[in-house]
Amino acid sequence: MEPRTLSPVPTSAATIERVETLLIDLPTIRPHRLSVATMSGQTLMLVRLHCSDGVVGLGEGTTIAGLAYGAESPEGMKLAIDTYVAPVLLGSDARRVQALMARVGKLVKGNHFAKCAVETALLDAQGKRVGLPLSELLGGRVRDRLGVAWTLASGDTARDIAEAEAMLAARRHNVFKLKIGRKPVAEDVAHVAAIKRALGDAASVRVDVNMAWSETEAVRALPALADAGCELVEQPVASAAALTRLMRRFPIALMADEVLTGPDSAFELARVGGADVFAVKTEQSGGLLAAQKVGAIADAAGIELYGGTMLEGGVGTIAAAHVFATFPRLQWGTELFGPLLLTEEILATPLVYRDFHLEVPSAPGLGIALDEERIAAFRRDRSRTTVAPTGTEG
Ligand SMILES: [Mg+2]
Repeated sequence: MEPRTLSPVPTSAATIERVETLLIDLPTIRPHRLSVATMSGQTLMLVRLHCSDGVVGLGEGTTIAGLAYGAESPEGMKLAIDTYVAPVLLGSDARRVQALMARVGKLVKGNHFAKCAVETALLDAQGKRVGLPLSELLGGRVRDRLGVAWTLASGDTARDIAEAEAMLAARRHNVFKLKIGRKPVAEDVAHVAAIKRALGDAASVRVDVNMAWSETEAVRALPALADAGCELVEQPVASAAALTRLMRRFPIALMADEVLTGPDSAFELARVGGADVFAVKTEQSGGLLAAQKVGAIADAAGIELYGGTMLEGGVGTIAAAHVFATFPRLQWGTELFGPLLLTEEILATPLVYRDFHLEVPSAPGLGIALDEERIAAFRRDRSRTTVAPTGTEG
């Protein structure tokens, strides 16, 4: 009788051979006015990991308005990956996602957004390799579609109302997040009240202050916003301590966003009861797996969940969608509308937004593909590779 032997697992069957990064500049459909900046375009930093088994993993790093929102920029992410992350990845086994990211973490501190892009690419590749959608690879999805809010941020009340009414009529969004904090509190409150009055019960109206208020401004604004029918106030003040004090004083739901920079800060905020809701962001958390940990911490603390966006394009948006699809509870839906803010489609098949929801793809990995012609048309410069390509890449 033949001895039964297991065939050895090939040790170098999925070696990372090439790390490619590129910047894609895309215009927005209208100026997007936040308290920190006004955006008229968005830059996506895309990373592609080319593996020896022929699989290519795709990831995205994107910020809001360059360096106006946080410490990383698309250009900086590209530099960090090309110079410091790629050497760690090259020649390594792409299948060992967590071990690889731990090695990257040892050699590269911070750089959450860049790491998220790389981890996304590794997970996309692994999903394609084993034939599973990312959400299944991440433990299993509990929903196939996600509610998606729209952000009203034209800076003009009448235009915002018209935009919201068009969204409602098209059944694309019925939850609206108003970006406020640029104007005096009384003006902002009047703006919110006018929009809520116009939309009525057909829509949920929420605000994001992006840390613009002092605590005393927030004290004046919160009761007035509640009276205006606003149901959720996102990051009204900058500090976690002030947010925690506001939690004790006002019944209106308060959401933490900017202060959540990963599992550590999530744990600390949960420990002091510093928010009713966490806006989980994959890049800000430091990756898809870290975002799942932030979600688990919130869940354990009785804090409700919302899927946030860094206004990512199609790649980062769908990576986040796979993560949020695995959350057992997602009480406040998501704001994964990033691709809809851009005038140009870069995916071979556009994401499906309908009936107020985004559908989570079910093909292996992220379940999406880039439109290479569009990528070539909008890339800022030739792609950089950290090993000399033999072909004519770029
Ligand atoms: Mg926010």
